[in-house]
Amino acid sequence: MPDDLPVIPFVDLAAEYQRLKAPIDAAIAGVLDRGDYVLGRAVGDLEVAFAGYSGSSHGIGVDSGFSALELIFRGFGFGPGDEVITQANTFVATAAAIESAGATPVLVDIDPITNNLDPSRLEAAITNRTKAVVPVHLYGRPADMGPINEIARERGLKVIEDACQAHGAFYRGKRAGALGDAAAFSFYPSKNLGAPGDGGMVVTSDAELAGNVRLLRNLGSSVKYRHDIKGFNRRLDTVHAAVLGVKLGHLDEANASRMATADELSKRLSDLPIVTPSVGDEVSSVFHLYVIETDRRDALSAHLGERGVSTGIHYPVPIHLQPAYRSMGHSIGDFPVSEAKAERILSLPMYPHMPAEYIDRIVEGVRSFFEE
Ligand SMILES: *Cc1c(COP(=O)(O)O)cnc(C)c1O
Repeated sequence: MPDDLPVIPFVDLAAEYQRLKAPIDAAIAGVLDRGDYVLGRAVGDLEVAFAGYSGSSHGIGVDSGFSALELIFRGFGFGPGDEVITQANTFVATAAAIESAGATPVLVDIDPITNNLDPSRLEAAITNRTKAVVPVHLYGRPADMGPINEIARERGLKVIEDACQAHGAFYRGKRAGALGDAAAFSFYPSKNLGAPGDGGMVVTSDAELAGNVRLLRNLGSSVKYRHDIKGFNRRLDTVHAAVLGVKLGHLDEANASRMATADELSKRLSDLPIVTPSVGDEVSSVFHLYVIETDRRDALSAHLGERGVSTGIHYPVPIHLQPAYRSMGHSIGDFPVSEAKAERILSLPMYPHMPAEYIDRIVEGVRSFFEE
């Protein structure tokens, strides 16, 4: 790489802050001026705004996407002996949250086109202990919720969206967060809506669940020093909520920018022997990640690295092959689509307002690998 070219980062959180520096600084100063650090005004404001944005009635701010998932499971009363189905290729937090609530994760393979839970494999995973299914809107593209909801309704299961990568994405005219019984969002800094630290939110139109989660995140308390149930300390920080409130007003614009970059990358790479992300008719991806597939993944990644283009793999090891999940008793071959993907997927840099010259360099980097 010529010395004068900067490394293209995988995400650029500092640039995102610079774009909104004045209103973000003012929002943080507002919290400091008021001193309402714990469950302050900005938390309630964000809960109303984000639930409304997602098309749900209730929002409950929590300290991470992991907690959002766990508290939904606990809020529905799942525990030991209960099974919760999710997909084999996801971030580990999905499975970890199921276990943290005391329930047992059960995996199904993914659809090779959408990279999301394959609805045609769902029935076979249901037992008389199954309580819920957790489709993950991986990479920002909503799972195929129509058939999943239909099967769940017939079998009396809850549907809980892991929407941690899909803030603002649409499926058949509704946003992620309004596509099941409840949804978990993460505000981890690099997510489409990211805090200056950890954060998350539960959204739901189920008033009873919302009430339970609200108690669970705050040590079971609705009135100070009265504890109706046993709970946890899983509150969203007020400073984080204040920053998120500013960024929520720019989320659609940021997502549109990601989508335009994805569109341009896909067009300019379309003639190469790689698979670019598919976008469906009724589904919009908000491109949390831009993931291509190639048989020569490791060599391409090294080639891009030499040219100053950062890449990632999401995720290199499916849940059932993670050392931590050996106890599930799975082996290689149990989820062949997820396993094959793990060898082939490569995430290119993706973030809002990526400079045009970076897009050019990414395209040239990928093209030169296949044209050499
Ligand atoms: C980020 C993420 C989570 C967990 O979010 P945290 O806020 O990091 O706890 C869960 N599921 C998926 C698919 C994620 O991408």
